[in-house]
Amino acid sequence: MNQIAVIGSGTMGNGIAHTFAQFGYKVNLIDINQAALDKALETINKNLGRQVTKGTLSAEEKDNTLTRITTYSDLRAGVEHADLVVEAATENLELKLKIFRDLDAAAPVHAILASNTSSISITHIASVTTRGAQVIGMHFMNPVPVMKLVEVIRGYGTSDETTAKVMELSTKLGKTPVEVNDYPGFVANRILMPMINEAVYTIFEGVAGVHEIDTVMKLGMAHPMGPLQLADFIGLDVCLAILHVLHDGFGNPKYAPCPLLVNMVRAGKLGVKTGEGFYNYAAGTKDAPVSSKFLN
Ligand code: NAD
Repeated sequence: MNQIAVIGSGTMGNGIAHTFAQFGYKVNLIDINQAALDKALETINKNLGRQVTKGTLSAEEKDNTLTRITTYSDLRAGVEHADLVVEAATENLELKLKIFRDLDAAAPVHAILASNTSSISITHIASVTTRGAQVIGMHFMNPVPVMKLVEVIRGYGTSDETTAKVMELSTKLGKTPVEVNDYPGFVANRILMPMINEAVYTIFEGVAGVHEIDTVMKLGMAHPMGPLQLADFIGLDVCLAILHVLHDGFGNPKYAPCPLLVNMVRAGKLGVKTGEGFYNYAAGTKDAPVSSKFLN
């Protein structure tokens, strides 16, 4: 595998392009939004610079990494010679189905089509292509250049060969791939989101405040970050959307999103990206004081 195409150059797409390019692959980074492509190159440059400062990458390796990345706003031109496409566009079912239909028509017949989706069914995505055996989930974690896990999701029809190739490739990127089957939330979000939801219920029912809940989980369970702070980082809208996928997919009331989470999303308190969620980020720091609204 030599040439990689990455669809979407947002938070995840720029990190995925950075990682493949750093490990020697030629990367075509594709986005419909030119401003997103420009910002992605800027972010990759800045993050590589940080690695050079830390001494984990040489200045020459940084320059070589950047020369391996080419940007495209046209999907067809960006994928026509790809061996692997990793789709990291906005989390929206209809959008992903359209992208995979287009990819199936435009990418070489041997190409593997992977999605970085957090929660959409790989089997559903594969169903709109003519190459279900070559469609797979490659779920990187944020920030991609730093986080070691790749959750490799086998759709109902994904072949052993495709899975083996993606597992091997992930290892070549210095990651630890873990193979899982395609059911709602896969493994990562099936376990993480109910924990976050339960933490929100714990505030909602007045058991404890934000700071108290996060402190219990950090100091008591050795989590590097409490579940409410983590929810702020992920985005409360994203957490809510994944809980809906679990709730709809299993039909089990245990996944019902807490009404407080629903209200916060309706009020536009989405976490770090809007400046306020369970914590207030007005001061621009991750450890800003807890919004007093939730203190007991
Ligand atoms: P983002 O909003 O930061 O970026 C999405 C990008 O996709 C945007 O730049 C947008 O212009 C582009 N896009 C939209 N339609 C497109 C199209 N038709 N063709 C090409 N580009 C298109 O989103 P993100 O946080 O990077 O998430 C991307 C994917 O990764 C989602 O499926 C999400 O569920 C998944 N994911 C996100 C995280 C995270 O922590 N943010 C973690 C794991 C997985």
